[in-house]
Amino acid sequence: MAQNKIAEYSRFIRPQNFDELMLLAEKAAGKRVRMVNSTAVGGGVAEILTRVVPLYNELGIKTKWDVIKGSGPFFGVTKTFHNALHGIKSDISTEMFKVFQETTAANLAEMSFDEDVVIVHDPQPAGLIAAKERSKAKWVWRCHIDTSHPQADVWDFLKGYIEKYDASVFSTPWFARKLAAPKYFIYPAIDPLAEKNRDLSAAEIETVARKYKLDRSRPIITQISRFDYLKDPLGVIEAYKLVKRHNDCQLVLAGGGATDDPEGGQVLNQVQEAAKNDPDIHILLLPPYADLEINALQRASTVIVQKSLREGFGLTVTEALWKAKPVVASAVGGITLQIIHNFTGLLVHSIEGTAYQIRYLINNPQAAKKMGEYGREHVREKFLITRKLRNYLALLIALDHPNEDIIQG
Ligand code: UDP
Repeated sequence: MAQNKIAEYSRFIRPQNFDELMLLAEKAAGKRVRMVNSTAVGGGVAEILTRVVPLYNELGIKTKWDVIKGSGPFFGVTKTFHNALHGIKSDISTEMFKVFQETTAANLAEMSFDEDVVIVHDPQPAGLIAAKERSKAKWVWRCHIDTSHPQADVWDFLKGYIEKYDASVFSTPWFARKLAAPKYFIYPAIDPLAEKNRDLSAAEIETVARKYKLDRSRPIITQISRFDYLKDPLGVIEAYKLVKRHNDCQLVLAGGGATDDPEGGQVLNQVQEAAKNDPDIHILLLPPYADLEINALQRASTVIVQKSLREGFGLTVTEALWKAKPVVASAVGGITLQIIHNFTGLLVHSIEGTAYQIRYLINNPQAAKKMGEYGREHVREKFLITRKLRNYLALLIALDHPNEDIIQG
């Protein structure tokens, strides 16, 4: 797919924000950056990197993206760490720390870092910091998780690595923990020109709806997510069943897996079991890169749900808001930055609450439409990729001035 050019983004944002982006790019041009994460596809981090890496390069920042290698047991361990960092009580053994260290060592043996800045995403590759001694780079740890209430043993283990970084980036101050090195706060963002978010014609939406046998004359409630306990797909089915007592409707649970998430198959089996007697529940197992289909499914929906039990940021919410869809979502993690209750969407805390608010939106289409419109403007102001690019360019510049509060132009 051809990458969009930076100038094409100017139509979405204020001219002064676009000018600032170009100015920062001029100042940071020539820097070499390495991004490292743990999966090339599936989940929000891969989604973001796919879009920003070509744009950094166009802006003159020579950016490469690497994915660490890991076995099934390693990703089993890091998924458990992920849950524990989100505050889900998890059994941790010393064997797990050993698996983490061994995979880190194997990746270190294959990688060298000769860039100016290395940005390591999330806990899985965090141990690569051991290579700092043999590189001249500034090292940044980018945390996409809400680590405000982590399980202590996992955080303490990870902290041994994190403290060696020159800086860390969190999605919001609430997610961060006390660290000696500077912390930066950068919201994630979506790309309005990506296949997943671009405008679609009515015919494109209809084709996908038909492919999945959705009846567009009845309300469609949709949650797009990896099949993950923390996304609570079983809770969504419960909420849908409560709605269905009063409103004839359909439910779409659509998602694929991520190569760094080994729990997906098990969750999917449970979801299929819970849905098996209801032809109005559509469980769609999407392949990687089903961007056009996700876009169309979101646009074909009457209400978008994101009933996560824990959430980093929740890009699926951003995507839905950008499409001016009314959203019902749990008041967890970064979702509360995106949904201003009763204004850009509806926040919920329970299955019953989810059902109640879905019914409200189905029964009040005018209010739903208004919320969708406000949601889109909220995303335009805060959560588009151009704002994120500005923030990262400023970070690249700031890393060269570690002890200065004000950097002169
Ligand atoms: N996504 C996808 N295919 C799927 C499920 C999700 O492309 O089958 C995308 C989704 O559209 C969003 C991202 O993956 O862009 C998920 O990001 P989010 O922050 O919502 O959750 P995460 O998976 O990172 O926990």
